[in-house]
Amino acid sequence: MNGYKDYYQILGVSKDATEKEIKDAYRRLARKYHPDANPGDKSSEEKFKEINEAYEVLSNPEKRRQYDSGAMFMGAGGPGAGFGPFDFSSFGARPGTRTYTYTGDLGDLGDLGDILNLFTGFGTGRRRESRKGRDISTDVTISFEDAIHGVTVPLTITGRTLCPTCRGTGAKPGTLPKTCSTCGGRGTVSQNQGLFAFSRPCPVCGGRGTVVEDPCASCQGTGAVEMSRNIKVKIPAGINDGGKVRFPGKGEAGPPGGSPGDLYVNVHVKPHRYFKRKNGDILLDLPLTFAEAALGTTVEVPTIDGKVKLRIPAGTQDGKKFRLRGKGAPRAKGKGSGDMIVTARVVVPKKLTSKERELIEKLRDLEKENPRAFLEA
Ligand SMILES: [Zn+2]
Ligand SMILES: [Zn+2]
Repeated sequence: MNGYKDYYQILGVSKDATEKEIKDAYRRLARKYHPDANPGDKSSEEKFKEINEAYEVLSNPEKRRQYDSGAMFMGAGGPGAGFGPFDFSSFGARPGTRTYTYTGDLGDLGDLGDILNLFTGFGTGRRRESRKGRDISTDVTISFEDAIHGVTVPLTITGRTLCPTCRGTGAKPGTLPKTCSTCGGRGTVSQNQGLFAFSRPCPVCGGRGTVVEDPCASCQGTGAVEMSRNIKVKIPAGINDGGKVRFPGKGEAGPPGGSPGDLYVNVHVKPHRYFKRKNGDILLDLPLTFAEAALGTTVEVPTIDGKVKLRIPAGTQDGKKFRLRGKGAPRAKGKGSGDMIVTARVVVPKKLTSKERELIEKLRDLEKENPRAFLEA
């Protein structure tokens, strides 16, 4: 097949690799072959493109399905054209003129950010950074149940916000920013040095491409003001204590023409009265009397979605675990739910009535099984 590439082989994963395995493999390889980690190395660059192409397909369930079925069509641009979260259009350009544009959603990859932090050496990376508003980080505390089911929480965010007077243009209401005459609106100026052409942010407009002649009085032309705003954010179902949720564009306003930063919400989950969490599973200790454990019984057990009946077989030992499938916390991205794990805890009465004492003494005298027999071998 013309242009066929084994994406599983490229990422070094098996055909039935989980999303996580694919993501981990991608992270590892992207770090290793990143062009900034291998300056001028053509084969690393090729490899990096291939890795991105493979990840783009295998990380998307629909594309992966198509690929697995052999239906993935390689466009006329050849394999790799338009694939991957990176735009490679100017790869191979001379130092100082190359532009890497990240077009994917970082949220999907979490700490892939540290790969992107390699993009600080040249070109426009730094300028793009400075035109973005600051990220904001905040904390919320939610109940155990809300962490399982998901919840929308109101937040008050303080920081630089798009100026309501000029709507972020920085220009006095009724006026508009003018095209910068120095750079003709491009935001960059070229400078020739020997054989190379360098592109730099325009010193007059700071890369915006526009200049404000009549600044807005509310924000002094900056397009943003320091204020509090109330927003609502949706915490996804199944989040763990200590989880972090990113809301792109909900951070501080950027400079005029720039993009806002992101909001990071650190989620704390209050302990429950009797449930505990272990990743996707919900744990419960279920006390049973000696008689219930010995004779067997059926007990009502609370779960996160209401009560269920649980049959305890005769002869149940302390510590025995019962698994209630699907009664745990939802997993990320709609991949089902964890389980509830019920652990039997046989409790011994602390006080006995005289009748109980009498019966238990009779039981002791009747008992044939010696639980310590193995110690006497
Ligand atoms: Zn303003
Ligand atoms: Zn300019």
